Amino acid sequence: MTIDDLVEQLRDRGQRATTARRAVLAELLDAGDTHLTADELARRIHAHHPAIHLSTVYRTLDSLTTAGLIAVARFADQPVTYHLATEVHHHAVCARCGATISFSPRVLEPVARRLERDYGFRADPQHLTIQGLCADCSARSGQSRGS
Ligand SMILES: [Zn+2]
Ligand SMILES: [Zn+2]
Repeated sequence: MTIDDLVEQLRDRGQRATTARRAVLAELLDAGDTHLTADELARRIHAHHPAIHLSTVYRTLDSLTTAGLIAVARFADQPVTYHLATEVHHHAVCARCGATISFSPRVLEPVARRLERDYGFRADPQHLTIQGLCADCSARSGQSRGS
């Protein structure tokens, strides 16, 4: 996936590839698995494009979300974050320390098959977060239980 691929997707959806849209897509591409808030994005974009202001970034995020190029992710009480919609993934979030792991949609395939077989339900999880304890925290809670 390159910025050119993303610009092409944008045009396929009948959207113009404005400087702001390109800049937002480029930053999200750069961020990979990291989810950025609108403020973080605006700060990064401002470094390269001082003319693009926060309000433009917000408007651009809205239009790119509507166009289906980017997805919104929200963790508990944290501010809304954004990532490329092509990066389909889910998260396991540690309820104790807040660590998040991204995991592949393949992990959920057996669950989806079971749901369809047993309940006739066709699951289409978009951006799931599963709560639990990360490896470190569960090791620690295991120790405290053992002592
Ligand atoms: Zn995510
Ligand atoms: Zn943890």
